[in-house]
Amino acid sequence: MDTRLLENIKNLYRRISSAAIRSGRSPFDVKLVAVTKTVISERIMEAIDLGLRIFGENRVQEAKEKISNLKSQINPLPPTFNKGGWGGFELEWHLIGYLQKNKAKTAVQLFDMIQTIDSADIAELINKYAEREGKTQRVLIQVKLSEEETKHGISKEKLMDLIKAVSNMENLKLEGLMTMPQFFDDPEKARPYFIELRELRDKAERLGYKLPELSMGMTNDFEVAILEGATMVRIGRAIFGARR
Ligand SMILES: *Cc1c(COP(=O)(O)O)cnc(C)c1O
Repeated sequence: MDTRLLENIKNLYRRISSAAIRSGRSPFDVKLVAVTKTVISERIMEAIDLGLRIFGENRVQEAKEKISNLKSQINPLPPTFNKGGWGGFELEWHLIGYLQKNKAKTAVQLFDMIQTIDSADIAELINKYAEREGKTQRVLIQVKLSEEETKHGISKEKLMDLIKAVSNMENLKLEGLMTMPQFFDDPEKARPYFIELRELRDKAERLGYKLPELSMGMTNDFEVAILEGATMVRIGRAIFGARR
């Protein structure tokens, strides 16, 4: 067992809890999505042993290999304990990267939540596959707030139409919004983007949509994100160290 992993997780929970309390909420109101892109299954298994339960991957193929690998390692408990198909481990896998259309079917089969819906087309496709799988797919809409060309997401101008469309899809459960600002050395520079996402959510709620989840904040800026209302933080490096 890697003792650094334990130390990292302890420190992270301390910081998340402290930020949650400073934001006037309970630490239980902020979910930790451990981002495992490029992290090998053995280390993910250690993180599971240390109590992490929600994992985020940004590529469908990479996730598919790891998830089947991990499933084969987790010894099934007797069926009465086996609620989630993970031998009593209630693991959740979230897709946090761009979803190509030709991966939509696999994504529906693999992920408990898809955080990166950014068009009505991809939402319709996911809805179709979810119906075929007999599943209600939990989703978030990814909003593009930064001006960078490379960032995916729906523009704020088109967001309300997409919220309306996704909300009407039978096999999708829209739970909230996600955003990923560009990288800043100074986390304060990310704050306006987090405020903007929260305000967009509040606006949608005034129109009658229920969007409890705000997925925002990464290793370098999660405390600011929590202070601005994040309910999910997506954190890789602060848990697993720098990526190669
Ligand atoms: C990689 C990634 C993260 C985590 O980034 P860290 O800096 O390692 O915490 C969060 N969200 C998305 C969408 C990512 O691709």
